[in-house]
Amino acid sequence: MKRKDLLLFFLLPFIGILVIILFFSTLSRGYVQKKAEDLVREQLTATAEILGVNMAYFLEEGYSPQDILKLYEGEGNIYYLAILDENKAILAWSSRYEGYLPYSSEDAERTAPWTIASPVGRIFNRLSSFSGKDGTAYSLYLGYSLKNLEDMTARSGRNLLIIFAFLAAVGTVFFFGLYELQKSYLAKAKEAEDARREKERFREISAFTSAVAHEIKNPLNSLSLLCELLRKKVPADTEPEVMEGQSEVQKIARIIDRFSDALRPLRLNKEKVALREVVTEAWAALAREIHRPSITFGYAESRPVHLSADKTLLTQCLFNLLRNASEATEQGSVSVTAEMRRKKVTVKVIDSGEGVSPDRLPRLFDPFFTTKDKGMGIGLYLARKIVEAHGGRIEAESRVGQGTVFTLHFPGGYHE
Ligand code: ADP
Repeated sequence: MKRKDLLLFFLLPFIGILVIILFFSTLSRGYVQKKAEDLVREQLTATAEILGVNMAYFLEEGYSPQDILKLYEGEGNIYYLAILDENKAILAWSSRYEGYLPYSSEDAERTAPWTIASPVGRIFNRLSSFSGKDGTAYSLYLGYSLKNLEDMTARSGRNLLIIFAFLAAVGTVFFFGLYELQKSYLAKAKEAEDARREKERFREISAFTSAVAHEIKNPLNSLSLLCELLRKKVPADTEPEVMEGQSEVQKIARIIDRFSDALRPLRLNKEKVALREVVTEAWAALAREIHRPSITFGYAESRPVHLSADKTLLTQCLFNLLRNASEATEQGSVSVTAEMRRKKVTVKVIDSGEGVSPDRLPRLFDPFFTTKDKGMGIGLYLARKIVEAHGGRIEAESRVGQGTVFTLHFPGGYHE
């Protein structure tokens, strides 16, 4: 997936959602905070009103201002309290902080509430007036702490942060999962598309090759018959040449047959097959074809492995692999090992030959890929076709100068 697509389809929506959540949370937090402050103001006004009435009563009852203030000491959120005379001069005061009252003559003119900062957070201040029974004007200065409110907003801020972090984590996991899913989906789609193209290409090649083979086979047959007739008519000393010509024609016909065979769909004739038997047979057939005394051959299996397979085709597959291994090994060893785990059979054809360079390795199983002068490049193609027709797969590993290993995986193995 391109960087731009990743940004467009995953990162941007994810960041967008986070920003929207953050925006609305901040908005709602601001709204709640403002509403709470309004509430405190109302509460403060109401408290001041009630205190004014009470104080007027106590003054009338003959309490001194200082005594009245004592009655309210330690009262919840009331931090500062002062009773002022008609000139706004302090008659008596009390404070949570010994010896400190944040009221000065400049505040005397204030008509609206004001806030000041303190070590315990903001404090709301208010100046209100009340009058005694005899008509004397008094003022009440009230400092009301907003600590509870600030604790609440701080806690809501913390909660918001936790929720935001949680959402970010869940979102990251979700979007990452989505991205991985999309990536694997695209990879699978690409694989399927590649396989489809490969099949298409192969169908074209097969159709073309079959047509060519068909066109060549007829004149070749006629040519072979002609050679046969000619052989009977020519003088005895020319007969070997005619026979040689006929054998070349037959060789071409055989090659064409092999091409046609390789391209034809396989039809399996399954039976119970002992792997040891198949490998030994393939090696014996090869020994009849090429003589390589400089190569040692071995077969190893921990317990006899059996498969339900087409014996002829499996022998053909191993023959092709063993022939390649022998041709690649000037001197050394060619061996086959077989093992089975949970019904899965793994067969390895190992040689100590020349090896395959990494750039050629991916093309080994391609039809018509060959590096040999007289090669046709269908041996490995056919081997893979046979393995896959049995529901298995084949892979190659190689190191130049050290040798090659072909690993065949088959399902449905068993011991007897
Ligand atoms: P051919 O044998 O006709 O070339 P194959 O399909 O059997 O066709 O093999 C294709 C190519 O793979 C060979 O030409 C060779 O280069 C390479 N190859 C196959 N097996 C081996 C091996 N065991 N060691 C080295 N190269 C190998």
